[in-house]
This record gives sequence, structure tokens and C-alpha cells, in this order.
Amino acid sequence: MTDDAERNRLLAEMAEQSTDMISRHTPEDWLFIYASPAVTHLLGYSVEEIVGLSAYDLYHPDDVEDFRLRAPTVNYDRGLYTHTYRFRCKDGHYTWLESTSRTIRDPTTNEIREILVVSRDATHRIKADKANRRLARVLESTQDLVIFVNLDLTVSHLNDAARKALKLEKTDYTALALSQIVDDTGMRQLVDDGIPLAKVAGHWLGELMMLGGKGNRIPVMLELLVHRSLHGDIEYFSLVAHDLTEKKAAEQQLKEYQADIDHASRLVTMGELASSLAHELNQPLSAIVNYLRGIERRFSGSASVSWANVEIPISRSIKTALKAGEIVHRMMDFTRKQEPVIAALNLPELIRDVMDLCDVMGVRHGVQLTFEADPDLPCVTGDRIQLEQVLMNLLVNAIEASKTTAEASATVHIGVTQYERRHLLVTINDDGPGINESDMPRLFDRFFSTKQSGLGMGLAISRSLVENLGGELWAENRPEGGARFSFTLNIAD
Ligand code: ADP
Repeated sequence: MTDDAERNRLLAEMAEQSTDMISRHTPEDWLFIYASPAVTHLLGYSVEEIVGLSAYDLYHPDDVEDFRLRAPTVNYDRGLYTHTYRFRCKDGHYTWLESTSRTIRDPTTNEIREILVVSRDATHRIKADKANRRLARVLESTQDLVIFVNLDLTVSHLNDAARKALKLEKTDYTALALSQIVDDTGMRQLVDDGIPLAKVAGHWLGELMMLGGKGNRIPVMLELLVHRSLHGDIEYFSLVAHDLTEKKAAEQQLKEYQADIDHASRLVTMGELASSLAHELNQPLSAIVNYLRGIERRFSGSASVSWANVEIPISRSIKTALKAGEIVHRMMDFTRKQEPVIAALNLPELIRDVMDLCDVMGVRHGVQLTFEADPDLPCVTGDRIQLEQVLMNLLVNAIEASKTTAEASATVHIGVTQYERRHLLVTINDDGPGINESDMPRLFDRFFSTKQSGLGMGLAISRSLVENLGGELWAENRPEGGARFSFTLNIAD
């Protein structure tokens, strides 16, 4: 066998074995002169069936015109031309093929003798391309900021939302470092936590600040994703950032609104106590007047007064005036509008202060306030005014519920104990009628009140204040009658 014949035999054998379809065509109308057996797998025809058919008859109608127009001017790059198109299978459905064709010319005349084509199934690639394009469209049109970042933490791509939010033109980010669009604290978060954690877990979620040009800071919830090659090497990172500006503004507004309501509620509670307190203040004032009148009576007209004779009434007057001043100060503190100050607080001491304010109300309604605390309790974490507000609400409610006629007597008992390892528990037991079981589910709702002039805010606010401090507040009826309100607070570190 000659070398040529041997080569042709080998080539023919390779064509027969190949999973790609190898076909030969006439130059004018692309009639199949030959097709390798792969044609059956790819298109469903047998070799005999396809030989003699024109490829033009099998193109998808949308592709055939395009191909007819381009065929004469096709650029054969180094003699090769590759294109992707739809081809009709024997069962009538169309499949995507990617073909590389080559012209075979007559060595003497240079005329095209035939065209040799190698085709393979491109359905998977086309589907993947389509899916990629769909994803790219989603990425471009999402309101979230999407940023692709190289391993050296320079930016490789920003979607439309990111370019707009960060005020960057499309060409701006060729040498853009991530540190130019994320603030210093955010960069430290990413470098120290985000990237190391994402390398292990695949992704990381955190809140940080991005820089929107002209010193504009954008709070975002950011998800960092690690993208790896098939071999597992990290190729790049992507960041998907959700702008929290509006959410933060709404939260701030809600916080201010909440502070206003808390303040208003304190004024209302103080209003409920006002008549009792006025009475309470009246007593020391009358006592002082009495001490001073006594001095006046004894010594008016005297040229000189001995200290020994006035020492006792004067020092009693001072003590009484200071006590009255204390009450006034506590009222002023309680009703002042101020930012919460979270600190370690001695709870029994704080409860006694609130009891001092509420005592007079108890006396007026024939209700005795009693208090018991475990010895040596640790401090709790909280804001003094907020905790006073919670206690005041619960005590005023308990006294109102336990109101008696002058002859009968009732008690509101406050207790503090250690609760589990990390909390203290405050309980307020009263001798009132208890809570209607049907009211229980709504008890802590805003504006729920069974009182004629009740605002229905006290319990709602108290619960949110306690929960903000990490505690819980609940109500139940005591088996022996009356209600019990309990709340927990975290022990200070
Ligand atoms: P207000 O005191 O303005 O009604 P609150 O939110 O403080 O608002 O209380 C809501 C309702 O819960 C009260 O109207 C009352 O029906 C019920 N309640 C609160 N404390 C007690 C209690 N110690 N005993 C019985 N019912 C209570």
C-alpha cells in the first residue's frame, strides 16, 4: 500500500470512529457526498439517508437565509470557518450544531472541489450560553449592587446598580481598588473575617459601609461569595450588596417615634401619680411651716435667740425640705426626655426608689407595698429611667387593681430573685381581681385598656423596653387570686 493510500485509510477509519460528524459537501448546493456514522447519533439519519440531501434543506428557516447570504463571503481563517446553527433531525426537531468547515481546492485550478465539515452537538453550550445571558441580565437589572473582585482586591466588574450607587462611570473601574468603594472599617471586616470565613464556608454575610463618592456613605448588607475553578483554586470573589439606607432611616425614625411615645407614656404615668405626689409634697411643706411658725411664736420680739433653742426645729426643717427636694428631683428625672444610658444597676435599690414614689398612691388607695429581695444580688444591665418606667407602670397597675375601701387592706408585693444563671427575676403580685382570661392574648397590645380613661400603652411599652434589654415580661393569674407580672433582666458582666 502506498503512503497516501495508508493515510487515507487511517483518516477514513478515524472519521468512522469519531463522535463528531464528519461530512463532505458539494460547493454549490451543499449536497452531502459523505457523512460519518455519527450522523445517526447526532441527527437520526442513516448514512445512506443523508447522502444526496442538501444541507440547505435541513437548516432552520431562520438560519438558512443568513447562511445563504454569508456563504459566498465567508472568511475562511487559515482555510477554516466555524459557525453555530440549528439543523433539522430526522424526527423533525432542530438541534444546535457547531461546525468547522474547510474548502478543498483543486491544486492546479484553485477551484473549490468540495467542502469538508466537522460538526458536533452544541445544544449544551447554547443552553449554557442562554442561561449565562439570562443571569447576566438579572445581574445587570437587579437593584442590588453586584461587584466582581480579583484576588488582589481590585474590582473587575460592577453592575449597573453598583455603578449608579457608587457614582462610577463604566470606564472608571479599570484600576479600582476595593478599598476605594468600601470604608476602612468595612475593609478590615472583609480582610480579617469575611474573606477567611468565605474561603472556608463559600460565602459570608455582614453589614458594612460602602463609599458612594463625595463622602457619601451607604450602609449595606453584603454577601461575599468565593468562586473557584474546577480544580478548586479561588479565581475571584463576588460581592452582592443590598442598600440599607432607607431601612436604616426608617429604623431611626421608628426609634425617635418610640422615644417620643415612651416619653409621653412617662408623662401619663406621672400624671396618674401627680395627685398622690402633690399630697406627699404638701406634708413636708406643712411640717416645715410648722417648725418655722413654732420658732416665730416663741421668739418673735426677742432681741437675741439662743442656738440651742432653735437647733432642733431648724435641722428638722432642713431634713424635711431635702426629702421633699428628693421627690421633686426623682419626678424631674423620670419625666425628662433623654437618651438611654445602659449601665450596671443595683436592682433592689432602684425598686426601693420607685416604691418611694408609688408609696403615697398605695396609702391613698389602702394598698400596702412590700418588698423582698434575695441577699447579695448581682447588678443588672439596663437604663435607669427605662427600668423605673417599667416598674412604675406595673406598680401603678397593681395598686389600681388592688384598690380597697378604707376598712379592707390589700398588698402589692414585689420580689427579686436570681433566675437561672444569667438573669434576675422581678415579680409583682397584687390582690386585685386578676386578668380576664379572654383579655390575656391582647394584654400587651398597644392601646388595649379596660380602664375608662386608660391609654393602654403601659404594658406594651414595658414589654418592648424589657425585651430591648434582652429580658422577657409576662403576666399570669395567681392561684390564690390576683395577678402576677414578672420580668427578667440580664445580669451585668
Ligand atoms: P392602662 O393602664 O392605660 O389601661 P396598660 O397597658 O398598663 O394600660 O394595661 C392594659 C390593661 O391590662 C389594663 O387596662 C388592665 O385591663 C390590664 N391590667 C394591667 N395590669 C393589671 C393588673 N395588675 N391586674 C389586672 N389587670 C391588669
